[in-house]
Amino acid sequence: MNKMLKPSLMDFTSKELEALITPKFRVKQIFDWLYNSFVSEYKDMKNIPNSMKDELAKKYLVNPLKIAKREKSSDGTIKYLLELQDGKTIEAVWLKMKNELRDESKNIYQEAKYTICVSTQVGCKVGCTFCLTAKGGFTRDLTAGEIVAQVVTLKQDNDHKQSRKVNIVYMGMGEPLDNLTNLTQAIEIFKEVGGLNIGGKRQTVSTSGLSSKIDRLGKMDLGVHIAISLHAVDDKLRSELIPMNKAHNIQSIIDAVKRFPIDTRKRVMFEYLVIKGKNDDIKSAKKLVKLLTDIKAKVNLIYFNPYPGTDYDRPDHTDMLAFQEYLMKHGLLCTIRDSKGIDISAACGQLQEKSNTI
Ligand code: SAH
Ligand code: SF4
Repeated sequence: MNKMLKPSLMDFTSKELEALITPKFRVKQIFDWLYNSFVSEYKDMKNIPNSMKDELAKKYLVNPLKIAKREKSSDGTIKYLLELQDGKTIEAVWLKMKNELRDESKNIYQEAKYTICVSTQVGCKVGCTFCLTAKGGFTRDLTAGEIVAQVVTLKQDNDHKQSRKVNIVYMGMGEPLDNLTNLTQAIEIFKEVGGLNIGGKRQTVSTSGLSSKIDRLGKMDLGVHIAISLHAVDDKLRSELIPMNKAHNIQSIIDAVKRFPIDTRKRVMFEYLVIKGKNDDIKSAKKLVKLLTDIKAKVNLIYFNPYPGTDYDRPDHTDMLAFQEYLMKHGLLCTIRDSKGIDISAACGQLQEKSNTI
């Protein structure tokens, strides 16, 4: 852990807390305050003795994040700018995936479904040429507690009870596999039954393709899904878009995916960022089908979202549809990511960028 940062209670699994706090039942109570009541301050932990709270407060923060800014979109998406204890900022997004369903009397019979998109680093080392996060370079890894706290903060802000399920996607700022230790610690904390109780099946790690670390994550057998940010079908273009592709080329990624333990009912998601005139042609679609032949894959096409200063353009809608149709016709499941929150600041890194320029 970074020496300048004070640890937070959210950095630890319940087992680890039991080594720090006695008797055991206090850990259970504290877990309940953190992950059921979503308290942000020791003073709200009503059944914990003051002497214990004073001792803990000297060493640990409760929630290491503060909401610096919120942008709400008309489709229910809320983008958050969150401030860390050292003043740095990250983004997390609250995505409404399905509306609630009501009967004739307007009573809800099925709750709305939400996904939380979390960041894993301040900035990113990978340096993708299309990505706004990359422009600011790399500042630091997030701690496990800072990853966990994003979900706690967003659930709390939306009054989303512990018992209601959310999905987590590691698709905010940063490359999750570049911060593997803290990422896997956060995954374990999310999974705790006495805590947020978000199973591995509800967690998707998106990676730009560090193939050796895909293997390491797979070996840990945490039950999480992976999404691969593929974006190109030949190494020349992929290395232009994602410079570290030179070290981890397309074939090495495909091989690592084949070794990854995947729930037999599920598919591996391949994200394909479509950039006008670069990778939006049918020749690329054809190569993509070939590349993914032996994999139970699902492709998610993403419109490149332009920002001031970029050389790339958003693809035409008709080309997107033709690309999708080709994949579907050749047996590949394919969706086009609807641009949730397009009226706010859609792609990752863009809210922070905006706040820097205000
Ligand atoms: N580093 C990981 C996860 C975070 S990036 C990864 O690359 O997979 C999250 C997603 O945002 C990636 O799928 C990336 O392709 C997408 N993204 C980045 N810049 C974008 C842009 N300008 N328009 C649309 N999507 C973008
Ligand atoms: Fe990093 Fe992902 Fe952005 Fe690439 S797309 S620079 S890996 S955050």
